Amino acid sequence: MSSKQHNPIPKIVVVGGGAGGLELVTRLGNSLGRRGEAEITLVDCSKTHVWKPLLHEVAAGTLDSHEDELEYLAQANTNHFRFILGRMQGLDGQAKTIRLAPILDSVGAVLVPVRDVRYDILVMAVGSVCNDYGIKGVAEHCMFLDTTEQAERFQERLMEEYVRAHVTKGKLEVVIIGGGATGIELAAQLHEVSHLLNTYGLDRVKPADVKLSIVEASPRLLPELPARLSDATLRELHKLGVDVLLKQRVVEVSPAGVKTDSGQVIPGRIKVWAAGIKAPDFMKTLGLETNRANQLVVRPTLQSSGDDGIFAIGDCAACPWPERNGQVPPRAQSAHQMADLVHDNILRQLKGRGLKEYRYRDYGSLVSLGKFSTVGNLMGGLGGSLMIEGFVARMVYLSLYKMHQLALFGVFRVGMLTLSHFFRRSVHPKIKLH
Ligand SMILES: Cc1cc2nc3c(=O)[nH]c(=O)nc-3n(C[C@H](O)[C@H](O)[C@H](O)COP(=O)(O)OP(=O)(O)OC[C@H]3O[C@@H](n4cnc5c(N)ncnc54)[C@H](O)[C@@H]3O)c2cc1C
Repeated sequence: MSSKQHNPIPKIVVVGGGAGGLELVTRLGNSLGRRGEAEITLVDCSKTHVWKPLLHEVAAGTLDSHEDELEYLAQANTNHFRFILGRMQGLDGQAKTIRLAPILDSVGAVLVPVRDVRYDILVMAVGSVCNDYGIKGVAEHCMFLDTTEQAERFQERLMEEYVRAHVTKGKLEVVIIGGGATGIELAAQLHEVSHLLNTYGLDRVKPADVKLSIVEASPRLLPELPARLSDATLRELHKLGVDVLLKQRVVEVSPAGVKTDSGQVIPGRIKVWAAGIKAPDFMKTLGLETNRANQLVVRPTLQSSGDDGIFAIGDCAACPWPERNGQVPPRAQSAHQMADLVHDNILRQLKGRGLKEYRYRDYGSLVSLGKFSTVGNLMGGLGGSLMIEGFVARMVYLSLYKMHQLALFGVFRVGMLTLSHFFRRSVHPKIKLH
C-alpha cells in the first residue's frame, strides 16, 4: 500500500459548488487545505460555476454566462482544494463514501465509470430544482431556470420566437408561472430585452408586441415578503406593461398556453415555470431524514439529524427558523451564512470542540426590475423593516453579487474583475444577439 492511502489527514468532501458550496470549499481550502491539515474536495456535476441569481439575466440574454463563469479547476488550483467532476447519486453512510454516476461521452458511451469518493466529513450543498408538483404538462411544455444550460436554452428559444414574430409580424407571448422574485425579475429583464432588440434591428417586433404575463396562485406577488413590497412591485410591473394574474392556480400546461383553475387560458408559445422548489430527488434515497421537498433535515448546527459527520447548507437543507416558526428560506444570503457557519463548525469538530448553532439573519430582500427599478426591504429580521426603492436599492442588490465574488476571489481580484467588466461592456452589445 502506498503511504498516500495511510494519509491520516481528514477528508472533507463538499458536494455542490454553488452559492454556498463554492464559498465554503474556498474558505476550507485557504484554512485547512493550505496548512495541509485536511484534504478538501469539491464535487460538482458541472465544470463551471455561474452564481444562480444571475440566471434570469442569462435567460434574457442581458448577461453572457461565459463572461461571468468560473472554472472549478482553476479555483481549486489557486485555493488549495481539489475538484472532481461528477454527479452524486448515492451514499453509503457506513463506509463513508458517496457514489458518483458514470460520465458519458458525446455519443452516450461510458467515459468514466461509476466511482466512490471517501469522506470523513461530508457537506451536501446541491441546491434545488423547480418543483412542478406533478401538474399536467409542466415538465413537457415549460422551460426552467435551474441551471446555466437551461437559461442558455431559454435565451436561444427567445431569439427564435423573436425571429418568428419579426418574420410573421406576429406577437410574442411569454407566460411566467410564479410571482416570486425569480418570475418577477425575469419579466423585468424580458421587458428590457424588448426595447434592446428593437434597437438592434428586430424592429418589426415593437415592445408593445411582446406580451408578458405572470400567473400567481396567491392573492399577491412575493407572498412571503411584506405586503408593501408586493404592492410596490405590482405597481412597477404595471408600469412595464406586464400582465399580472393573481389567485390563479395553474392546472395544466399545453403547447399553446397555460390553463388555470378558473378556466382561463393564457396563450403563450414560451412558458416558464418558476413556482416553488425542491431539493434534487436523489436526496430522498440517501437513507437520511428528508422533508416533503427532499431537503435534508438538519439540526441548528447544520448537521443532518442522523449523522454527525454529514452537514447540509443552502437550498437543500431544511433548517429551522424558530423566530418565524418556519424554515430558513432558500436564498443566496442563507447559503452564504450557512457556508460561514459550517466552515467554523468543521474546524471546531476537528478540534473536538462544541459546535455553534446557526441563526438565520434576514437582511431583507431585494427584487430587481431590470435597469428600470429595484424595490426591497432591509433589516427584515432586526425588529423592523426599511423599504428601499430605486438607485439605493439597485446598489444594494448589486452588492450581493460582489459579496459572493469577494468570498471567492478577495478584494484585489474583484477590483480587477469589475474594471474588466466595465471595459468589456463598452465594446460589447448590451444583449447577447445569437
Ligand atoms: C433565476 C433566479 C434568481 C434568483 N435570485 C435570487 C436573489 O436575487 N437573491 C437571493 O438571495 N436568491 C436568489 N435566488 C435563489 C438562489 O440562487 C439560491 O437560493 C442559491 O443559489 C442556493 O445556493 P446553494 O449553494 O444551495 O445551491 P446552488 O447555488 O443552486 O448550487 C448547487 C450546486 O450543486 C450542483 N449539483 C446539483 N446536483 C448535484 C449532484 N447530484 N452532484 C454534484 N453536484 C450537484 C450544481 O451544479 C450547483 O453547482 C435566485 C434563483 C434563481 C433560479
